[in-house]
Amino acid sequence: MSIETNLNNIKSKLTENVTLVAVSKTKPVSDLMEAYEAGQRIFGENKIQEMAEKHEQMPKDIQWHMIGHVQRNKVKYMASFVSLIHGVENFKTLHEINKQAKKHDRVIDCLLQIKIASEDSKFGMTESEASDIFQSKEISELKNIKVVGIMGMATFTDNQEQIKMEFTQLKSSFNHLKNIHPELKIISMGMSGDYPLAIACGSTMIRVGSSIFGERNYN
Ligand SMILES: *Cc1c(COP(=O)(O)O)cnc(C)c1O
Repeated sequence: MSIETNLNNIKSKLTENVTLVAVSKTKPVSDLMEAYEAGQRIFGENKIQEMAEKHEQMPKDIQWHMIGHVQRNKVKYMASFVSLIHGVENFKTLHEINKQAKKHDRVIDCLLQIKIASEDSKFGMTESEASDIFQSKEISELKNIKVVGIMGMATFTDNQEQIKMEFTQLKSSFNHLKNIHPELKIISMGMSGDYPLAIACGSTMIRVGSSIFGERNYN
């Protein structure tokens, strides 16, 4: 099926309050352009350099989301254009994003990544660590970042009950954290295999790759 058909198919299932991020990592610009021509304007990448190269080559009305692990020494390569950083895992990274955003006189929107999966390989902080960040004096001094939500990745498993439990946990963390930090509005959860479940559990932003662009080939 074509990229356009896939996109329309997914969009037809979304309610108005859910934003679709088209995850285009490893895919060529020609594929991204097909999605662009079908109306897609939000793209997600997980490597800063790859995102910067695609940003150079593509129309400038695209919103670029960094969805992967953020290496602090590479924040400078995306600070001039990135529109949302999903995977902030600690205060040090927020600090670096703030510093680089300031150089471009921008305020960069960020999500804190919360670890909901049972796998050790998945990144993220606990709800209580996020809560500490929101209550710290330092965060109010970072004028060039704005934390607008949280992000999570479920365990890679076929067990729907487990995934549902993890998504429900993220939604509950969101509700708790919003009491401390009312600016929170985004819950980024759900990928190709689990986005309908994520939406049922309260997701407001889904990150979908292979269901739009096809399987990725890492060779
Ligand atoms: C690759 C990736 C996705 C998209 O995965 P698909 O299963 O292809 O939809 C979503 N979120 C993150 C953080 C990713 O790295």
